[in-house]
Amino acid sequence: MKTIQSDNYPIFFDNSITELVNFVKQGNYSRSFILTDENTGVHCLPALKEQFADMDNFDIIEINAGEESKDIDFCIGIWKMLIDFGADRKSLMINLGGGVISDMGGFAASTFKRGIDFVHVPTTLLSQVDASVGGKTGIDIDSIKNIIGTFTQPKAVFIAYDFLNTLPARQILSGLAEMLKHGLIVDKAYWEALKSSDLSKPSVELVHWSVEIKNKVVIEDPTEKGIRKALNFGHTVGHAVETNSLINDKTPLTHGEAIAIGMICEAYLSHKKTGLSSAELEEIVKVISDLYPKYNIKESSHKALCALMLKDKKNQNGKINCTLLTRIGQCNLDNICTDAELCDSLSYYANL
Ligand code: NAD
Ligand code: ZN
Repeated sequence: MKTIQSDNYPIFFDNSITELVNFVKQGNYSRSFILTDENTGVHCLPALKEQFADMDNFDIIEINAGEESKDIDFCIGIWKMLIDFGADRKSLMINLGGGVISDMGGFAASTFKRGIDFVHVPTTLLSQVDASVGGKTGIDIDSIKNIIGTFTQPKAVFIAYDFLNTLPARQILSGLAEMLKHGLIVDKAYWEALKSSDLSKPSVELVHWSVEIKNKVVIEDPTEKGIRKALNFGHTVGHAVETNSLINDKTPLTHGEAIAIGMICEAYLSHKKTGLSSAELEEIVKVISDLYPKYNIKESSHKALCALMLKDKKNQNGKINCTLLTRIGQCNLDNICTDAELCDSLSYYANL
């Protein structure tokens, strides 16, 4: 698959691990730090270590797996390890993992000594098609997602599709939500291609296409003043549902599962507010409902969910702001939605 060029960094698809080794060697870094979590440490790190066999100037930093690690305490832990290992401004951080690792590693690197270079080696479907591209880094506070962060671009992204071989089916589904979103917001042909393929493990071509879509959007608007807001479709409701689930559920929803719910609710709002036809609303609901298990959103939690949506960093002047669809493949930015409308969309989902 061809290398995709982002604003000022490449996104490799072929021989990605070899490309990474070349990149590290050519970069003359004083030291490299591979950030992993307990799962990528087992499933993905050995392949990297094998390739790094003739290098001795790298260390491994491992954190716990899961969203709970994307917080300031783990970040301080990473900064301290960088200090202990003697990291300097010519050090490189290699983020080997899913979106938690790329968000956290990108944030830790972009703030350490006012910023050191970092690259992403995304190992989940979600991080390959979404989190590793576009330069958003961040951590959560009190379960409020990504509330602290920076826009800092990686120096390169190395997508090794084979890492998906060990990824649990539930995590594949999680990434798929962002792929569906890419089709819904800007590319009907992509949505159609997804609909007609085996989605239990999307092909490398579909992954590549998804990255092309995300890359095109973020190049046009790197700091989310305009078109990049399209990528927030499903995320106003979705982030609130995700946060609520992280706080209350024994087995919380994945990011993509929450976004799938958010896309149904926001497709419903699109039908009510921006002219999405009932036929297309039905189509979207059917595709998503066939893929994702139904989640129980209690009526009693609607208020709490709206309160969480109010804290969303995408809002302005205390108003809840959504990206909605006008039709499949086309969206409309900056739609103010009231509490009543959002509660109505949650009820719509609950009654499906
Ligand atoms: P994740 O990083 O928690 O990974 C999911 C699980 O899969 C973890 O348990 C991880 O250890 C495991 N795993 C990773 N790779 C594996 C592999 N190859 N084999 C087996 N297990 C593996 O979650 P995620 O879904 O990748 O990312 C979600 C995060 O990404 C959220 O915090 C979200 O906010 C963030 N995100 C950021 C952006 C952005 O633009 N920066 C975009 C979308 C999502
Ligand atoms: Zn997302």
